[in-house]
Amino acid sequence: MPIDATQPYDDNNIFARILRGELPSKTVYDDEFALAFHDINPQAPLHILVIPKGAYVSWDDFSARASDAEIAGFVRAVGQVARDAGLVAPGYRLLANTGLDSHQEVPHLHVHIFAGQKLGPMLAI
Ligand code: AMP
Repeated sequence: MPIDATQPYDDNNIFARILRGELPSKTVYDDEFALAFHDINPQAPLHILVIPKGAYVSWDDFSARASDAEIAGFVRAVGQVARDAGLVAPGYRLLANTGLDSHQEVPHLHVHIFAGQKLGPMLAI
């Protein structure tokens, strides 16, 4: 079910539980501001999710409420994860679904990193 990006933060969403260590993840990066792990249902040969450590529902919530340090830390982490995975030369795609029309399913901000093949057209509607 897609989520409404205006909803309040749900402390029991799957990614909040991963951050608390209650659920496992195949972690590839962890710092003060961000955690990155492999998507459980990959849509490309490499499909990594990067999430902020703070409690933010969506890109909208994060961009409105997060501190400058959190935003800088998160954006730098996304770049670092892609760099660490050797994706700069071959290229990669970032995606942040936000709310109903985008079909965001997990109500904790996550940026998808897709890579490992030619990624085709930007949108398939
Ligand atoms: P979105 O539709 O943008 O909200 O994407 C949610 C993503 O989270 C999907 O690609 C799911 O496959 C992924 N996902 C859901 N549960 C887990 C989990 N426990 N570990 C890793 N990825 C997950």
